[in-house]
Amino acid sequence: MKRAHVSLWLFAALIAVAPLVVPDFYVTLLNYVGLATLVALGLVLLTGVAGVMSFGQQAFVGMAAYVTALLTTQAHASPWLGLVASLALVALMALLLGAVTLRLSGHYLAIGTIGWGIAIFYLFGTLPGLGQYSGIDNVPPVQLGPLVFDSARASYGLIWLVTLGALLAARNLLDSRPGRAIRALRFRAAMAESFGVDTGALKLVVFMHAALLAGVAGWLHAHFLRFVSPHAFGVNAGIDYLFMAVIGGASHVWGALVGASIITLSREWLKDWLPKLFTHTGNYEAIVFGVMMMLLLHRTREGITPYLARLLPMARDLPVRPAEAPAPPRRERPGRGSVVLDVDGLGKRFGGLVAAQDMSLRLHAGEILGLIGPNGAGKSTVFNLISGALLADSGQVRLAGARIDGLGARAIARRGMARSFQHVHLVSRMSVLDNVALGAHLRGRHGTLAAMMRVDRADEARLLAEAARQIERVGLTAVMHERAGNLALGQQRIVEIARALAADPLVLLLDEPAAGLRYNEKQALAGLLRTLRREGLAILLVEHDMDFVMGLVDRLVVMDFGQKLAEGLPVEMQCHPAVIEAYLGGLE
Ligand code: ADP
Ligand code: MG
Repeated sequence: MKRAHVSLWLFAALIAVAPLVVPDFYVTLLNYVGLATLVALGLVLLTGVAGVMSFGQQAFVGMAAYVTALLTTQAHASPWLGLVASLALVALMALLLGAVTLRLSGHYLAIGTIGWGIAIFYLFGTLPGLGQYSGIDNVPPVQLGPLVFDSARASYGLIWLVTLGALLAARNLLDSRPGRAIRALRFRAAMAESFGVDTGALKLVVFMHAALLAGVAGWLHAHFLRFVSPHAFGVNAGIDYLFMAVIGGASHVWGALVGASIITLSREWLKDWLPKLFTHTGNYEAIVFGVMMMLLLHRTREGITPYLARLLPMARDLPVRPAEAPAPPRRERPGRGSVVLDVDGLGKRFGGLVAAQDMSLRLHAGEILGLIGPNGAGKSTVFNLISGALLADSGQVRLAGARIDGLGARAIARRGMARSFQHVHLVSRMSVLDNVALGAHLRGRHGTLAAMMRVDRADEARLLAEAARQIERVGLTAVMHERAGNLALGQQRIVEIARALAADPLVLLLDEPAAGLRYNEKQALAGLLRTLRREGLAILLVEHDMDFVMGLVDRLVVMDFGQKLAEGLPVEMQCHPAVIEAYLGGLE
């Protein structure tokens, strides 16, 4: 058995045995830990991994709790119907709210969620029929056949089964095709788009996932406590959940559990002890938590979980090379020599600056075309216009005969274009293998639900095997399991090429791939590009390094001040007066 599985079973056993050996008070407390873990887990995915800050999770908890409480007390519906109804409402609200707020960026989004949290709190407190600030009591317990979850001990099993299930599902999700895309959302959304990820939709999915986890917690809360009142769902609770996620480690699935345990248990103890210490009653624990948070953030942004993980080396398996698996589907290739990319009259202005003007070029299958020019000439701009990262003001682009200008990066990726970035765009926390597998995103098909339930494994094995093959091809097998951020810059550029190759492109756009490479690394890169050319790939190479380009490319397009200066064979360009002027003009 894998080590990670052993530690998982040990943990499950611990959870199973706990209620048999601890007093009632602690069983109740552990139930609270389970509920809080669910909400914090949503925040780990949403905030820690996807980078979307929310102070409003408690509103989803409250909404679900109120819906099920109302249905079961007023309409005497079954709590199971309450579950369906509350999750349906939470999903709907998350969809609406997400569609509105997720467009906001950074701080504005966080402020938006605070506004929504406050509004919901007062709504619970003032709406007649919701019991106002005294809430709704006599909520019935959940029943499953002969089982009635009507005490803390009885609820314990239900709560922890759900919590463990949610933790496992989240872990499965992050270790999958959609999971890699989610992990790219925070810092590398533009890159993810250029490999076909619909980042807007994916953010919304994560937002809804987090809201539903909060909703399940709310439903359990209502039927375990048997009453609901607005006080449990105020903005304070929202901040608490965020504390839990951050203290535990906002980017680790298990951080939700660690954070929820630390905050819930230590609050109880501090509530007991601090007033005795200060011989006054008061909310001292809030002060202690605030200070603790500042100290923790000062020491580490990663939370406590990484430290715990180091203490538990048995939880980690040594990474292995993915097993061989058949390649994911490949696309049909145009015949060697046919025009794959046809760029005609592209133009782009940034304010008053003409970054590209009337740029035209043609790229054939099995050809390397160099695009060179001094710094600021507009090479990267042309690149971004072709790949759909920027929208052109004028001109047309055809890929394998079909118009692609105006389509957007995602759709263009789908049609067979893959690129590297001048400023490396890797997900630095992810392994090299996962980064490269993200390149093959469009060659897999399973979504978030399949990933959570682990029914995506055959598909996933194909993607990982393909990623491993591409890594081997570019000569980085030795660092396959390293974090991408730990690699030297030159190696990171090569990882970008492997990632682009994993997309099985017709056209490969490389923006200064040789920058930062040592002499022999450049030689190896040139060798790789020659192999790719022989296999029929069309490569557009932006390069600053003339020596690297000269011996490698079939043709050159030289640009300066956004315009094409000259075009032809490398030897012709070397002695072309306008080119010499552009490159040396500044030196004379
Ligand atoms: P190169 O890649 O050839 O060095 P770029 O295409 O990066 O050149 O830049 C061409 C010109 O356009 C430069 O003057 C640069 O400052 C400007 N530029 C590039 N991107 C932007 C942008 N997003 N907004 C404004 N100006 C830009
Ligand atoms: Mg550039």
